Amino acid sequence: MLLNADPLRKILELECKKGYLDSAVIGGLDRFLRNWADQARKSITSPQLLNRFSKLHLVDSNYASLTKEQRKEWVNSVLDFLVDTECGEREKGEANLVPVAIKAPSGAKKQRTVVNQSIDSPITVVKGVSSNLATKFNKLGVKTVRDLLYFFPHRHLDYSQRKPVSQLAEGKEETIIANVWQAQEIRLGGRRSTEAIVGDETGNVRVVWFNNPYLAKKLTTNTRLVISGRVGLFNGRHVFESPEWELAEDKELIHAGRLVPLYPLTQGLRPRQVRKLMKEAVDQWAWQVEDFLPSELKERQKLLELPQAISQAHYPEDEALNDRARVRLAFDELLLLQLGVLSKKRAWQEGQPGNPISTKPSLLEAFLQSLPFELTPAQHRVLNELLANLEEPRPMSRLLQGEVGSGKTIVATTALLMAAANAYQGVFMAPTEILAEQHFSTICQLLSRAGHLAGQEDYLHSYSGLLSHPLTVALLIGDITQIRKRELQQRILDGNIDIIIGTHALIQKEVEFHKLGLAVIDEQQRFGVEQRSALRQKGFNPHVLVMTATPIPRTLALTLYGDLDLSVIDQLPPGRQVVKTKWLKPGQRASAYAFINRQVAEGRQAFIICPLIEESEAIQARAAIVEYERLSQEVFPELRLGLLHGRMPSAEKDKAMRYFRSGELDILVATPVVEVGIDVPNATVMMVESADRFGLSQLHQFRGRVGRGQEQSYCMLLAQNPSEVARERLDIIEKTHDGFQLAEEDLKLRGPGEFFGTRQSGLPDLRMAKLSDVGLLELARTEAIRLFEKDSTLEKPEHSLLAKELARVWPEAGEWS
Ligand code: ADP
Ligand code: MG
Repeated sequence: MLLNADPLRKILELECKKGYLDSAVIGGLDRFLRNWADQARKSITSPQLLNRFSKLHLVDSNYASLTKEQRKEWVNSVLDFLVDTECGEREKGEANLVPVAIKAPSGAKKQRTVVNQSIDSPITVVKGVSSNLATKFNKLGVKTVRDLLYFFPHRHLDYSQRKPVSQLAEGKEETIIANVWQAQEIRLGGRRSTEAIVGDETGNVRVVWFNNPYLAKKLTTNTRLVISGRVGLFNGRHVFESPEWELAEDKELIHAGRLVPLYPLTQGLRPRQVRKLMKEAVDQWAWQVEDFLPSELKERQKLLELPQAISQAHYPEDEALNDRARVRLAFDELLLLQLGVLSKKRAWQEGQPGNPISTKPSLLEAFLQSLPFELTPAQHRVLNELLANLEEPRPMSRLLQGEVGSGKTIVATTALLMAAANAYQGVFMAPTEILAEQHFSTICQLLSRAGHLAGQEDYLHSYSGLLSHPLTVALLIGDITQIRKRELQQRILDGNIDIIIGTHALIQKEVEFHKLGLAVIDEQQRFGVEQRSALRQKGFNPHVLVMTATPIPRTLALTLYGDLDLSVIDQLPPGRQVVKTKWLKPGQRASAYAFINRQVAEGRQAFIICPLIEESEAIQARAAIVEYERLSQEVFPELRLGLLHGRMPSAEKDKAMRYFRSGELDILVATPVVEVGIDVPNATVMMVESADRFGLSQLHQFRGRVGRGQEQSYCMLLAQNPSEVARERLDIIEKTHDGFQLAEEDLKLRGPGEFFGTRQSGLPDLRMAKLSDVGLLELARTEAIRLFEKDSTLEKPEHSLLAKELARVWPEAGEWS
């Protein structure tokens, strides 16, 4: 008797693909195996072969009780056996067991050949991926097989419900299986195209494919075809126009008749081509992805196995599995994010002892008395939280959130003053040079009211009457002369400077401290990870205060900044007015300019923000110059205009800012750098070009630049041709003035990637997870904390894969491997 080994091979391959879950056969593999082996044994005559056969324990298999690793090994050994019996032993004439139906090179053999290549190999190892194609994928950021497996479709078309031809409904997306009766090349609108008449037992329907004459040859009479697409009407009859199609063969469908993935494409990648090779990649490689989640966790949360989740995310069997795949993959992202955040908090706090900074009540009192205003209750509360935290021996990690203009600077300055009073140095880091300069002048102004200016050199002021020694404040920016910079650096190292203000980049890279006690990181919407680790590497473990004007909903804040404590200034100083905001159509541009003219005539000033151009700062700067010239010459020839962009030497930036602040300029034309921080109370108009390209939070920041003085202020948003989403956004910003609400809307409309710019922030990329999915966020957070409590360094063997994955997705943090 000749036994066919093909069913067994197919089952085992399927089992591989499904991740060794004993799910390839209904009722479990064991029953099938025993059944099959019983028959097979009878057909084997060679004693040698019989010997090998019995070692496989097919007859008395106990697959169900094996661990996953054991299953994998065992399945491979059986597949090996099947291949050997076909290509090895049979040649020797020994194989009466005839697994002839092994159709090399599919299945087992193929998998054997790729065993030495890992999923981190370049994508050219995937069948059908030429180096030419690989280049196109590289452009999408897809380099390795792993990248390819994680290159998920942005959605699926549901072509899973098949209909008889007689029941097709016009205007609906439908799927049929039909026979080709005839197909021919025709001309449609002057283009060579294909027309076919197809049908099933219930009726016939016409199908046309524009611009695709070659199909006519492929669709010979009696070809069975799956067709999915929208049903149209032509001359009163149903017609499919350029539908998806696929030959109805034995193999799994990928283009039609199922949930069909739609991939983000780039030029030169065709949808059918991408689907085909994604299928290849998923079938061959998904099962090789190691599932790094501890099984106990997976069971508790009823999560899919990773290989299964990956393959279902591409080619789902049904909607339910598609959802479960998304949940599993999103959970992974959020869990890893949480673990990373928690690890950092631990490292931060355990690394080195902190430096307690005690509050000096009389100094505090004197300083607050000297201010030209009363702190708001919210500022008082937050200041107290902060000062209490500074007194503790463990280093503070605090995030201070507060609306634009809520008065964060003064709170931070008070803390810096306390650090200096405890003989610690403090730094104040700003994201841009302009802001650093502004902070320097603000802080100097505040100190000069409380104390007396005792000395003044370039970039260095000192004040007496506050501490037992003169309090010195330095500004470190890019275009200080090298000599002066070195001088300042030396004095910082010697401990002669108390407060250092500069940009993030500069302070991280170029400054050595004598005794750093407090670091304030301003306008940091993201982590401050790099800043902190840079400071740590310098041998200090300072208290850290990160300040942001981008309010983040609480659950999210805990997820993203789980390593930080949270303070919120949820109140603006009294007298702040609502900035009237209007979204203008392109036709209203002239009247907007007229409005600016009238405001200037009344003695007010205006900002004009140039369009956002993503390519580079250089291009951005050039565009700003062009716009500045156009406005100066053609639109406001009578007015005094200034220009501000990131590429200007900082002396010039400073000049522009100073002139604008002192009223010597009427209009400041700026690149979006002014988004953060600049404070000019007499400015009453903020005009933003291409407002549709900014997020709500960003627009809100721009708007926060005006309305700081007594006069009614205005924000004018120009958008050339806004998309649906952008229109919605512009409507919202017109009506809403609450930063928190705007942030939440932003998150909903734009998604987290754009909102946080996770790529640049050192956070792992979130592709599947939606930060608006609070339930899953909380779940991931709970599980991360549970893991962390059990095994905070992920040293236990059952967590080793997880530790590896964490190090892989988030190498920047690098504390755990
Ligand atoms: P932000 O939180 O956006 O950094 P700033 O610290 O720059 O805000 O403060 C914005 C403006 O409000 C500054 O001109 C500052 O002097 C002023 N300010 C801060 N606190 C108060 C207060 N309690 N009362 C009145 N004005 C205040
Ligand atoms: Mg600020």
